[in-house]
Amino acid sequence: MLKKKRALVTGSTSGIGLAIARALHAEGAEIVLNGLGDPDEIAALTNEMNATFNGANLLDPSAIAAMMEEIGPIDILVNNAGMQFVSPVEDFPTAKWDAIIALNLTAPFHTTRLAVPAMKQKGWGRIINTASAHSLTASPFKSAYNASKHGIAGFTKTIALELAQTGVTANCISPGYVWTPLIEGQIPDTMAARGLTREQVINDVLLAKQPTKKFVQPEEVGALAVFLCREEAGNVTGANWSIDGGWTAE
Ligand code: NAD
Repeated sequence: MLKKKRALVTGSTSGIGLAIARALHAEGAEIVLNGLGDPDEIAALTNEMNATFNGANLLDPSAIAAMMEEIGPIDILVNNAGMQFVSPVEDFPTAKWDAIIALNLTAPFHTTRLAVPAMKQKGWGRIINTASAHSLTASPFKSAYNASKHGIAGFTKTIALELAQTGVTANCISPGYVWTPLIEGQIPDTMAARGLTREQVINDVLLAKQPTKKFVQPEEVGALAVFLCREEAGNVTGANWSIDGGWTAE
């Protein structure tokens, strides 16, 4: 279904991005992986998907520009790389704030502005931004993350309008809690910020938000990304797709 389409998935060495890359690959897309990680594990992923890899650090706009130049035109852009930090606002390290905004919000701006000209020229393109339930609602102690995710939701709507007559769509996917290294990594800080045990954080903070009481599976997010790339989704643009076990329905 996606044969002859080239897809860049940022942050695809782990978690949700990896699942999206695998799902697009299974539909025949040619995959460009990006992210940080162990070189041997990344080599195994490139072999598995017959993919290419670009390890640009997306905190650096010049590295993003070099990556986009090196990989050339793409049909599908998945802005997925992201990071989290949990702290009360008065203690929030300013360097962490800057890094979260740079990775979660500014990097997608740069990849998008550099990918759009070729998509417009072809008259076809798909831009998918991994936002979050935190693009629609907030939780305490995640000020930078929530600001970045609300920001990417606004950015996505804006480019959807700008590109509406070009054959290029832009949408957000907004997962609730998906069990990935990003979630595991925030458990100790949430334990400290709220004075809770690990089990209390999982059951009373994370899953408490999701009426299904289940973590979202990365493969479920991959399947939604595939749908957004289909021809039948050509009129789906500017939307923010919740996949959050009912969290934002409340
Ligand atoms: P993850 O930590 O498993 O993966 C993050 C990916 O981003 C990795 O491939 C990592 O190498 C890459 N990355 C990190 N810093 C980078 C940098 N400076 N340059 C390039 N790549 C970098 O996290 P995940 O849970 O799969 O999260 C992926 C996206 O989904 C993020 O945008 C996150 O905010 C969003 N999200 C996650 C959840 C969840 O519950 N896990 C929920 C909602 C939204």
